[in-house]
Amino acid sequence: MYLLPIRYKYFVTVNLDVEIKNLDTVISNKKIAIKDSQAAIAKYTEQQNNVRNNREFDSLSKEMEFQNLEIELSEKRIKEFTAEMALKKETVTTSKTQLTDREEDLSRKKGELSEITSETKIEEEKLRSKSEKIELFVEARLLTAFKRIRKNARNGLAVVTIQRDACGGCFNKIPPQRQMDIASRKKIIVCEYCGRILVDEKINVVEDLDAPVAK
Ligand SMILES: [Zn+2]
Repeated sequence: MYLLPIRYKYFVTVNLDVEIKNLDTVISNKKIAIKDSQAAIAKYTEQQNNVRNNREFDSLSKEMEFQNLEIELSEKRIKEFTAEMALKKETVTTSKTQLTDREEDLSRKKGELSEITSETKIEEEKLRSKSEKIELFVEARLLTAFKRIRKNARNGLAVVTIQRDACGGCFNKIPPQRQMDIASRKKIIVCEYCGRILVDEKINVVEDLDAPVAK
């Protein structure tokens, strides 16, 4: 759930970093252009001292006017780009803070998960040794069949109960007569669709799994 926003924020931040760099370059170029215009104006001012007629003087004045307009325009653009850059920098800072928060959140969650996993592992070990003890009381032929079914079952369950008239493993309907046969517990009946061993729901209440285990 948290993964997508993190990636998104990272993506935005990286893109903004590039955009900020580009704006910085544009601003630098505008500053160079202003210096060039200023140099041109200085040159024209000097030339105006050595003109031969009014026409040449006016022509230089026009050039200077044009360069001044260019400078004004560049200054306006620099102002706009600087504001834009500040805004983008702010977004980057906010996004980076959020990213750090999320990453901290993620590492905390990972810590919690590994704690749970190790707890589960202990529980699993206990159940495994319990199941090994129980195996001693089961007929070898049945145990082999049980293990084979379990290995092939997608959810790892070899024995399932009937739930709402259906197999608890594959959810295919079980006919009433078959349900009665299963409930009678006279023989082991497997689901004709998935091959899992079917038992009636009451079996969990009646049988105590701890009972046959010698302690
Ligand atoms: Zn089934």
